[in-house]
Amino acid sequence: MRRFASVLLAAALTTSHVTAEDSLVAHQRDWGVMATTLDIAVYRPASEAALASVDLDAAYAEILAIDRAMSLYRADSELVAINSKDQGLPVSLSEPMFEVLSAAADFGAISGGDFDISIQPLVNAWGFYHVKRARMPESKLIDEARQRVGRLTWSLNANDRTVTLKPGTRFDLGGIAKGYAIDRAIALLRARQVPAALVNLGGNIAVLGQAPGGRPWVVGIEHPRKPKLMGQIRLWSGAVATSGDYDRYFEMKGQRYNHIIDPRTGWPVKGIYSLTVVAPNATTADALSTAAFVLGPKRGLDLIRQQESAGAVVVEPQTSELGEALVVTRTHDVKISKQFEITIYPDPKIQNQMMNAE
Ligand code: AMP
Ligand code: MG
Repeated sequence: MRRFASVLLAAALTTSHVTAEDSLVAHQRDWGVMATTLDIAVYRPASEAALASVDLDAAYAEILAIDRAMSLYRADSELVAINSKDQGLPVSLSEPMFEVLSAAADFGAISGGDFDISIQPLVNAWGFYHVKRARMPESKLIDEARQRVGRLTWSLNANDRTVTLKPGTRFDLGGIAKGYAIDRAIALLRARQVPAALVNLGGNIAVLGQAPGGRPWVVGIEHPRKPKLMGQIRLWSGAVATSGDYDRYFEMKGQRYNHIIDPRTGWPVKGIYSLTVVAPNATTADALSTAAFVLGPKRGLDLIRQQESAGAVVVEPQTSELGEALVVTRTHDVKISKQFEITIYPDPKIQNQMMNAE
């Protein structure tokens, strides 16, 4: 189970004065989906428990539908069907699949190809689809897989909503689909006029409205090497996602090999322990954290700095022992430590107040 960010709601529940919002209570449930835990909290008055129960069912169904379409582990998923149609001919896409592939193409472009959903042959070569069986492949296998990966192996056509895969191309949406699923759930809850909600899918988190008492949501950031929190983010809106080297990996001769792979070298990425992105929506947070993680400490942080309305908390090998992290936004570059608590506003209009590190 992924153990990235955890949510600290207790701190957000204390309030001294009573407002209309204070009468909201959390209606919460969790499920296992997408090989991780889904936790949804819907805030409605206690008297609306039945309505909240319908909200929870509907949000879960939405996320399950995305998993059914985008999983590599379900033989009947749309993604598995697309992967089998790699004959260089256009394949029609469902609306959600087209949206995810479009977003994936955009993040592929802004990362110069380092974020690439055609990474599947390499993830497979390293055995990461069954992490207990992950191991270093022979270099010949890496080279073969690398030939099948890259931005030129697939193309989208927005006019007729199709994708075309060259022979041997295989998609893996593991770096973006969770975020997209959360965005769908949040949109559904908004349409159902839920006043406040939090969706946490294995550490990918998005919020709707404000926490009780008009407060920010508080999201914990895991220490990438120790079973404790490193600090916390106060989130007023939008989403958070973490990419790290401490969740799915194996070790050989003292070296760690993790599941995020550089499409150029064909090797697991090194250089960052964890990178947490705050962004206006969960698709962006998810894809951007994976993209910046692949790009590494220099180019990855530059990519974050170029974003209008996103920021990142980065834990690097050199300073993680000290409990230090780096906060990077368009306007700030700050080192923080000692159970930091920061606020990142993912809103470009208030960019100047964007970060307040304590
Ligand atoms: P995340 O935990 O969101 O950073 O996503 C990691 C997952 O994304 C991996 O388990 C793979 O399924 C997939 N992935 C690995 N390398 C890449 C890459 N270079 N570009 C896009 N997705 C990747
Ligand atoms: Mg991701």
